[in-house]
Amino acid sequence: MTATIIDGKVLAQQVRDQAKADVEKMKEMGLRVPGLATVLVGDNPASKVYVASKQKACGEAGIESFGHTLPATATQEEVEGLVRELNADPRVDGILVQLPLPSPLDEEGVLKSISIEKDVDGFHPINIGRLAQKGRDPLFVPCTPYGCVYMLKLIGTKLEGCNAVVLGRSNIVGMPVALLLVRENATVTICHSRSKDLPAICRGADVLIAAVGRAQMVRGDWVKPGAVVIDVGINRIDDPTHPKGSRLVGDVMYDEVKEVASAITPVPGGVGPMTIAMLMRNTVHSAKMAQNVTW
Ligand code: NDP
Repeated sequence: MTATIIDGKVLAQQVRDQAKADVEKMKEMGLRVPGLATVLVGDNPASKVYVASKQKACGEAGIESFGHTLPATATQEEVEGLVRELNADPRVDGILVQLPLPSPLDEEGVLKSISIEKDVDGFHPINIGRLAQKGRDPLFVPCTPYGCVYMLKLIGTKLEGCNAVVLGRSNIVGMPVALLLVRENATVTICHSRSKDLPAICRGADVLIAAVGRAQMVRGDWVKPGAVVIDVGINRIDDPTHPKGSRLVGDVMYDEVKEVASAITPVPGGVGPMTIAMLMRNTVHSAKMAQNVTW
């Protein structure tokens, strides 16, 4: 079997086009356009790139963006003070504090200071707590996990009753994606660095999500024929044949697994583009809630 390649760029564009159409409609109705505030602390080059691409996506969707930068020496009080100002700013529907924060800043303290109504990254402890509770709904779902499950649904994967295996249990990907899959009525196994015999566990998966940050760890013989494989990993490996001397790969050995799976996301061009698309979606959702828009 050769897998269908799940084109994250195409699916993400659909989500972004919908966000843009919603913003247009809000404008036509005389409503305020959505606004996203980004908070970048320090000068981590990767964080700068991520924030710039989020701001660019806002521009394309017609979302107003408010960029804030603080030096790496900023205190906890300064970062939380800025967040409080943004909480009170009626033009701001979403507040995105780019992680990781430089040490010794307390990440949880900063995330907790974001108003849950503006927590478009979905990392506020209350939103995560609601995600984990039966009968409760978070206001926002973290963007990468949301993107993974949204993709699975867009391609028509039957999640109810399926066996899903999630490799990784981080706060930003593994755990929330597992919680989302449980909400879709999948039977979920979560694996981590102490799990025994990963290949055997993975072979039981109808849906396999890899989010470990280990280059090409999942091999072809770990995958059940016909499984759907979502590769969240982004890892740079040396490749002397590549002009840059290196290239990006996922947590899955793509060339092997695509011969076994029924569908697979590539890296790059799979989950990555969905993350920003879901941020746009969450920001528009927030602006709609703030203005009592019901469509
Ligand atoms: P973390 O390092 O925070 O978490 C990794 C998880 O994988 C941990 O739960 C860890 O277990 C587990 N793990 C590590 N090694 C092994 C192993 N050998 N066997 C089994 N489990 C293992 O990573 P993130 O969740 O932040 O990110 C995971 C990957 O996803 C990275 O490559 C990252 O770059 C990528 N990513 C991609 C995004 C996108 O938009 N596409 C967004 C965010 C991340 P333990 O808990 O026991 O330590």
